[in-house]
This record gives sequence, structure tokens and C-alpha cells, in this order.
Amino acid sequence: MISVEEARAIISGTIKDFGISSVDLDDAVGRVLREDFSADRDFPPYNRVTMDGIAIHTDSFEPGKAFPIAGVAAAGAPQLSLQSTEHCLEVMTGAILPTGCNAVIRYEDLLISEGTAQVQLEKVNPGQNIHDKGEDRLEGSLVVKSGRVLSPAEIGVAATIGKAMIKVSRLPETIIISTGDELVTVDQQPLPYQIRRSNVHRLKATLKQFNIEAATEHLVDDLDVVTNRLKAIIEEKELILLSGGVSKGKFDYLPEALDRLGVKKLFHRIAQRPGKPFWFGQAPNGALVFALPGNPVSSFMCTQIYLLPWLKSCLGLPASPQPFGVLQKDILFKPDLTYFAQVKITYDKAGKILAHPVEGNGSGDLANLVDADAFIEIPRGKNEFAAGEIYPLHFYR
Ligand code: AMP
Ligand code: MG
Repeated sequence: MISVEEARAIISGTIKDFGISSVDLDDAVGRVLREDFSADRDFPPYNRVTMDGIAIHTDSFEPGKAFPIAGVAAAGAPQLSLQSTEHCLEVMTGAILPTGCNAVIRYEDLLISEGTAQVQLEKVNPGQNIHDKGEDRLEGSLVVKSGRVLSPAEIGVAATIGKAMIKVSRLPETIIISTGDELVTVDQQPLPYQIRRSNVHRLKATLKQFNIEAATEHLVDDLDVVTNRLKAIIEEKELILLSGGVSKGKFDYLPEALDRLGVKKLFHRIAQRPGKPFWFGQAPNGALVFALPGNPVSSFMCTQIYLLPWLKSCLGLPASPQPFGVLQKDILFKPDLTYFAQVKITYDKAGKILAHPVEGNGSGDLANLVDADAFIEIPRGKNEFAAGEIYPLHFYR
């Protein structure tokens, strides 16, 4: 059995880059960019009118002056030219500024009648209501650097520079496998000695947050069946998430099956509660095997504490900052294990994070997870933990 710290270090040692894939612009939000975005033209690409109104040249402006309207420049129309500075052109937001003009006056500041626009302003400044060509970014300049997590803001920029396909971190080919003869599918009515396979769906939901569409499968508790099926799966998949079958029960065949297949055990069992039976290893072809405990709370906690930080690093997502919470109730915990206690979170007036233990009935009590928000990491080395003490928090919502 190894410590939580050792387990974290071993898992970190297997962090790898799954490479780059190209995705459609509309599927790229939340992904990690793996190319630079440079401006393919100036931003904006032409002197852009920013208000509906008229364009004039300020040299011929005087307060109260009326300009005959010589034409209309719509957005999307080629550039017009003002032939005489005594005239004006009507211009619409988004239109290219006509040549010979250097200012735009809003309709709100005009009186228009019989083809003439009379200006109601005392002063007109050169450049007003014009978004200058290249004012925001120049052609060729870097707009978004590789490594950025794409938010809707970056998607807008990508569209503007004509990126229909975007290079992002490739996601690992992933499968989630449940084991156990007591498990039935969600749509089945379980017999009195059966339960529904919740871990699979919970894991699938977790991975969906990273845009990973994992395959799912169920294996019965039979050493040969498990071994044969895993053999094929290891060849196809890069990330294999198993649940159940790694404890000390008679039908917990996974460690033996994985051993037969040459999957290198990097550790089995961590000095922690919940989640002690966690088995972790790597196949000769590099496929990673997270064999999580079957108990729903254990499996959930191992996913949050070990799998997700690893996955984030592999994909180039930033690590979450480490928050700390103030324990709100004494905890007595005697085993020499790191204790990941479930806590409900509130905040005091100063914004301090308060962690209220929500005890529940142990690692099978998945309903208790609904009442809590995070795990608080209570270290080994002592038995009594007093209200007011501060420990690391691992939020799951
Ligand atoms: P095991 O590690 O296979 O001994 O399983 C430990 C406990 O977790 C047993 O009570 C199982 O019924 C339960 N369990 C295993 N897999 C799942 C699953 N996919 N969904 C819900 N409970 C499970
Ligand atoms: Mg089992």
C-alpha cells in the first residue's frame, strides 16, 4: 500500500500528450488550442463606419451647415467616393468609409429633408464614428496563442480569421467498463440481489465535461472472459477506466487478468479512505488503466482526485488552483489513512471557505455525494482534527 502522495507522483509520471486533432469550429469550445491564431487581415479590415448617418469631410464643416446627399453607402457594398466636400454620403454601420470622407455624423445629430442633411452639432471631429483599419490588430499579428482553452471569445476570433477547422489537443480513445454480476443496466428492473450500474454513467458524465465520448462495456465476473475481452480492448483504447473487481473478494479478477495481459501494475491500494483498492497500471502499448474501486463513493473520489488532474495535464488544461477550507466540526479519524471527507461548502462574510462535514454511511453511500460539494483532504499522522483547522479541498461541483 502506498501513500496518497506516492500515488499522485506515480500517476503524474504517466502524463502524456495525446497529440493534435482537427475539429470543426463549432465543436471547438472547451478544447485546448494547439496552433496560433494570427490575423489574416487587419482588424478591422477597412475603415469601418460605426454609426448610421452621413459621412463628410470636416474641412468643409460649419455649425448648422446642410449637405446635399450624394448617395448611400450600405454595409456590404463596395467603397463609394465623395466627389465634392460640399456634399455628403449617407453611410450605414459596417459600411466601408467612402474615400474623401473623414468623419461620420449620426442620424440623431441631423435633420434630413428633401435630400439634404443639416448638421445639428457645433463641432465635428476628424475620425469620429470611424473604426480605423488595423486599429485593433494588424495583419499577421498574433491574436490567440497556442495552449489557450477555447471560450466563445476565441471561437468568434477563429471565425473572423476564417478558421473552419481548428487544431486542438486530441482526446484519448476511452472506454469505461463496469464489472460485477450484480449489475444491470439503467433501464432494467433489478432483482432483489441486483443493482444498476451507476458508476459507468457517472464516469461518462465526468468525461463529457472534457468532450470525451467514452465507449462503455460491461464484463461479468469470470477470469477468462475478463482477460480475453481486456486483451482486445487494450489494443484499441488509450484510456481504460474499470470499476469494481479490484478488492480482495473471490470474484475480484481484474488484477490477475491485467497481470496476465502484461499490463504493468504501477500501484495497487492507496492508504486512503475511501478508495483504498484503486489499481493503476500501464499496458506495453502505453494504454493507461485506471481500475477504480467498485463502491460508488470510492470510485467517484478516485476519479476526482487522481484521474481528472492527470487528464487535465495530458490535454494541456490548466490545473485548478488548490483551495483550502476551514473545518466546521471536529473529526475523529483513527485509521492511518488519508481521509477524504465529504463536505458541504458555505462562505463567511469575508469569503472564507467553510467546510461542513456531511458524514453519510461510507463508500457505498452515493446519495450522500448529492448533499456535499467537495472532499476535504484530512492528512495522516494524527487522529483528532478540530473545527477551525484548515485543509485542502477538492470541489466536484
Ligand atoms: P467490487 O469492488 O467489485 O467488490 O464492488 C464493490 C461494491 O461496489 C459492490 O457493492 C458493488 O456492487 C458496487 N459496484 C461495483 N460496480 C458498480 C457500479 N458500476 N455501479 C454501482 N455500484 C457498483
Ligand atoms: Mg465486483
